[in-house]
Amino acid sequence: MTLSLDHAAQNALADDLAARLRPLALSERLALIDATVGGRLVFTTSFGLEDQALTHGLRMAKSRAEIVTIDTGRLFPETYDTWAETEAAYGFRIRAYVPEREAEESFVAESGINGFRHSVAARQACCGFRKVEPLGRALAGAAGWLTGLRAGQSANRAETPLAEADPVRGLIKLNPIADWTREALAELIRQNYVPYNVLHDRGFPSIGCAPCTRAVKVGEPERAGRWWWEQAGKQECGLHVAGAPGSEIKPGREPAAFEPAQSSDTSSKTSNPELAA
Ligand code: SF4
Repeated sequence: MTLSLDHAAQNALADDLAARLRPLALSERLALIDATVGGRLVFTTSFGLEDQALTHGLRMAKSRAEIVTIDTGRLFPETYDTWAETEAAYGFRIRAYVPEREAEESFVAESGINGFRHSVAARQACCGFRKVEPLGRALAGAAGWLTGLRAGQSANRAETPLAEADPVRGLIKLNPIADWTREALAELIRQNYVPYNVLHDRGFPSIGCAPCTRAVKVGEPERAGRWWWEQAGKQECGLHVAGAPGSEIKPGREPAAFEPAQSSDTSSKTSNPELAA
C-alpha cells in the first residue's frame, strides 16, 4: 500500500484488508498488517484495557509497529504508573508526544487551567492542542495507524471496521480488535498478566484525561464517563473522526493464545472481579 493512492483506491484496499483480517486470530491479524501495510506503522496507546491488550499482542508478535502515546499533561497518576509498568514488563520505551508549549501556555492564560469546561468549543480547543496536534506529529509520514478502537465501546463506534482509509491523514487506519468483546479482552489481560490501569477496578471502563473522566454507573455505556457534562452520546475528542463504511463487525471473537509476558512486576494481578474472574 502506498500513500500516493487516491481515496477510492485506498478505500478498496482497506476493505480488502478488512475482509482478509476478519477470520484471523489477533496474532495472525497483526502479522498480516505487518506484511501488507508498507511503510511506517504507528500504534497510539492511551494505556486503557484495549490498548494494553494490543501492546501485548504487538510485542508478542514482534511487530515492527512503533508504540507511542500522547501525553496530554492531564493524565491520571494511575495512567503514568501503567505506562511505566508496561515499559518494565515488555522491556521497551514508549515514545511520548506532548502539547506544544506555546499553545498550552496561551490556552491556560486565556481560559484558565480548567477552561475546557466553559464551552464545547473550549473543550475542543483543549483537545485540539493537547491531543490532536501531537497526534498529527506522531502519525507524520505513517502508512498505517493502529488503534485499540472497539465497536462495543459506544454507539459512535458501533460501525468501527477492522481497516479503513483515513483520507484526512492519508493512511490506512487499522483497528485489529474492533470486533472483540470487553470480556475477551479482560480474559487476555488476565491470562497473560498484562499490566493494566487500576482505575478499571474502580468503575472507569474508559480512561482519558483526569479532569474529563469519571467512573460510570452500572448499566451506563463504557464512554459515559468522558466529558459527562456535554451532550450524551457525543463523547469523542477529535482523534477518531468517523470512519468510512467498512467491514462487518462480528462481536465475540475469542482472544488469541499468546505466550505469557515476561513480566517481573506482578502488581497488576488484582482481585478485580472483572479481570480476575
Ligand atoms: S480530555 Fe479534557 S483535559 Fe484532556 S485534552 Fe480534552 S479537554 Fe483537555
